[in-house]
Amino acid sequence: MKIGIFGGTLNPIHFGHLRAAEEVREAFGLDKVLFVPSAFPPHKRKEDLESPFHRIEMTRIAIDGNPYFDYSDMEVRRGGFSYSVDTVEEVRKGLPDAEIHFILGVDAFFEIESWKDYRRFLSLCNFIIVTRPGYEKRSLGESLPLEVRGDFCYDSAKGCYGHTSGHCLNFSEVTLLDISSTEIRKRLKTGKSVKYLLPQKVEEYIKKNNLYKT
Ligand code: ATP
Ligand code: MG
Repeated sequence: MKIGIFGGTLNPIHFGHLRAAEEVREAFGLDKVLFVPSAFPPHKRKEDLESPFHRIEMTRIAIDGNPYFDYSDMEVRRGGFSYSVDTVEEVRKGLPDAEIHFILGVDAFFEIESWKDYRRFLSLCNFIIVTRPGYEKRSLGESLPLEVRGDFCYDSAKGCYGHTSGHCLNFSEVTLLDISSTEIRKRLKTGKSVKYLLPQKVEEYIKKNNLYKT
């Protein structure tokens, strides 16, 4: 069983997340992609962060109908700050035989050094780094913190950067959708249309519950 983990604040989830996950799922033959909305993220101002309850509901609604997509409230259940390293370990505990692939955008990957236990985190599972508009794809040598560069070596047989742990780090070019939750929130705040940036049912949920107004 190959499982992808797609974390983030998902505030709200949008087509940039969904399409990247779908393309990665197909390209890497993943059996499941698990969307995991964070509780309280360590790197963000929390003022325009919608409640975990609503972010989970929007995620649930957004993935409805895709048999390969699932979601988990594990970070919200754990409470406090959400750390991906803990999430990977929790997924592993529940599915000891699964091959885990952590999916994240290059923008997030460029900041990996600030993540909790990032060196250990990078050793725990496979990684799939997806492209995102506005963030040029640098070589791994340039994007990896100095401290961990020696942990990776290009594996031409597998076509990925092999980690000393035996896991793989891949770069994956996905359809570049210049969509961000920040821009969606901005538009909602000023009463502008967010149509076609996120699933219609999520847009309806936002309107019905008066989210992102203030
Ligand atoms: P915000 O603007 O609030 O930061 P966001 O759109 O960046 O929101 P996040 O919840 O921060 O979304 O991101 C979750 C994950 O999805 C990250 O790994 C991020 O790199 C990735 N991601 C977000 N938007 C896109 C996109 N348009 N294309 C590819 N990856 C994306
Ligand atoms: Mg972001």
